[in-house]
Amino acid sequence: MPSRVVRTRNAPSPTGYAHLATIYQSLFDKAYALKHNGKFVLRVENTDKKRYKREWEDAIYEAIDWAGVSPDESPIKGGPYGPYRQSERLDLYKKHVLELVEKGCAYYCFCSAERLEEMRAQMQKKGLPTMYDKHCRSLSNEEVQKNLNSVSKYVIRMKIPENTKIVCEDLVRGKIEFDSSTVDDQVILKSDGFPTYHLAVVVDDHLMEISHVLRGPEWITSFPKHVLLYGYFGWEMPVFVHTPLITNMDGSKLSKRHGHTSVDWFRRKGFLPEAVLNFIALLGWSHPEEREIFSFAEFVKVFDFKDLTAVSPKFDLQKLEWMNGEHLRNLPEDEFNEKLIKWLEYCFSTKYKGASEYESYWKKPDYDDLRKFLEGLEKEKLMKFAEINKPRIKKFEDLLPLNEFFIKEITLDKNMLEKFKKGEELKKHLDWVKGLLSESDWSLDDLKKIESQVKDRASKIGWKVNEVFYPIRIAICRNPVSPPLFESMWILGKDAVRLLMDFE
Ligand code: GLU
Ligand code: ZN
Repeated sequence: MPSRVVRTRNAPSPTGYAHLATIYQSLFDKAYALKHNGKFVLRVENTDKKRYKREWEDAIYEAIDWAGVSPDESPIKGGPYGPYRQSERLDLYKKHVLELVEKGCAYYCFCSAERLEEMRAQMQKKGLPTMYDKHCRSLSNEEVQKNLNSVSKYVIRMKIPENTKIVCEDLVRGKIEFDSSTVDDQVILKSDGFPTYHLAVVVDDHLMEISHVLRGPEWITSFPKHVLLYGYFGWEMPVFVHTPLITNMDGSKLSKRHGHTSVDWFRRKGFLPEAVLNFIALLGWSHPEEREIFSFAEFVKVFDFKDLTAVSPKFDLQKLEWMNGEHLRNLPEDEFNEKLIKWLEYCFSTKYKGASEYESYWKKPDYDDLRKFLEGLEKEKLMKFAEINKPRIKKFEDLLPLNEFFIKEITLDKNMLEKFKKGEELKKHLDWVKGLLSESDWSLDDLKKIESQVKDRASKIGWKVNEVFYPIRIAICRNPVSPPLFESMWILGKDAVRLLMDFE
């Protein structure tokens, strides 16, 4: 069999806020396509009319672009295999469904909702799995014609062969066998004329010449239906890969409650897309040289679908934080600032108000104040801001408490100020520092000189080094945890420091 041109695809259903799984799958799809000179396709599966919203679709594009794993073809980019939105392909599905009916591989079902409900209730009572009882499978052609003329609503179901084994081949899991008696006569065309996922996914993957289908493990149970459909149509199957099931640290299914699943959440926390990609790449895959920190470009060079594992990886948020910190430190200062400002803008935007499950992250005034402050800084100071903060944070969100004193007035906590020394001896020390500061030309060099003078003073007056710096830090930063003190003073400027320390 000649090997096919590589065409991978991600096929999300926009029924909620863009999910991390969309990025996870796109990462592998995009990397594999890049490595093999192929194309990565994004198809929007919006056959569930009730749950689809255009804004969810747009959120998917934005999330994928943010992560840097954009498709080559998509509903908004277009491409030679469009349309890429399933709601715009209804005629195609209908045609293929009728072809299956014609071939005897699918049949009309005229059962009413009441009948189906009754049937399900009966099965549940008997403790049986709720599957369609194939009532309409044996209708004669005449009965079907009669019903088509008189019954306004019908669906079309695929025929699952009886008493056979359906063998499905997954690149990672190998052969998975299903007893056909456990597979339902799946509806493939709904009464509203829309196909179900199962039919649409097979038709589209075929017509779009998809070579590799990577998708979540929740689709394994549907796999036999798809394998049968390929067989009914007589089409060559793509390679199938089901990703492992990602779990929380305690082994439970990844949920919003423990780990976090919406891309918006990661963005608002201030994770870098490159760190998120790096982190998710290691969920179910490991670097051949056991490397932990790598870029997307490095990943592309070594990734192969076949090296994914079926073992459930654990979603370790702490590890992501560590990785993000590493990626932040690797950024040159100007890039750090650029990303930081974009992040502040995103956090302050009203764009996904109501869409985020994490309302508390939405539009905090601090985000806007910090952005204005940074944009008002001279270039050199802005670079210094990045340099002193980079090693101290794991994600952008951590910047805010650390740097509050730059953007707001914080009442001085007297007790904090007097933690080590108080009264006359503290006043004397601070006056001495103020004296030096008031004389300073406020060059960074000069301030660093003052810093070492302060340090030297400790032994002279019999204080510990920490004790000479602590009250100055509290006076300026109003917080015992801050970026380096004298650099911060330099960024603040002499006037602001004068106000904070109250000197001439
Ligand atoms: N629309 C399906 C989903 O949202 C796609 C599954 C697949 O990739 O085949 O998960
Ligand atoms: Zn029926």
